[in-house]
Amino acid sequence: MAAEPTSKITNCPDCHVTPDTLHHQGCDVARCARTGLQRLGCGHTSNACNTRWTGRWPGEAECVEYGLVIDVGSDTEPLPDLNRLYALCDWDPNQQRMVLRAPIADHGGEHPERNT
Ligand SMILES: [Zn+2]
Ligand SMILES: [Zn+2]
Repeated sequence: MAAEPTSKITNCPDCHVTPDTLHHQGCDVARCARTGLQRLGCGHTSNACNTRWTGRWPGEAECVEYGLVIDVGSDTEPLPDLNRLYALCDWDPNQQRMVLRAPIADHGGEHPERNT
């Protein structure tokens, strides 16, 4: 069994709001509720696409759920692989989370050659 990353619930590292609170304007970490991308660059002018800080980095929970983590050694907990998350997933505005576009292909298995 792989060790599961411990959930570190913190305040937003940028705007310092507490979990389950809307980010402040101009927060670097806030995601746009409509696009799932960084809210600073989403181009929406109203406040309607502001999101709540969950206590964890946006996408981190999805990375763990989908197994998109980088193993950095047995003594350290795996890091969420946000690059792969954004490559493999689309933002679902209804669920306010990233959802997999397709099931992840397992590249872990080896295929020994058969010599008969
Ligand atoms: Zn924030
Ligand atoms: Zn927006």
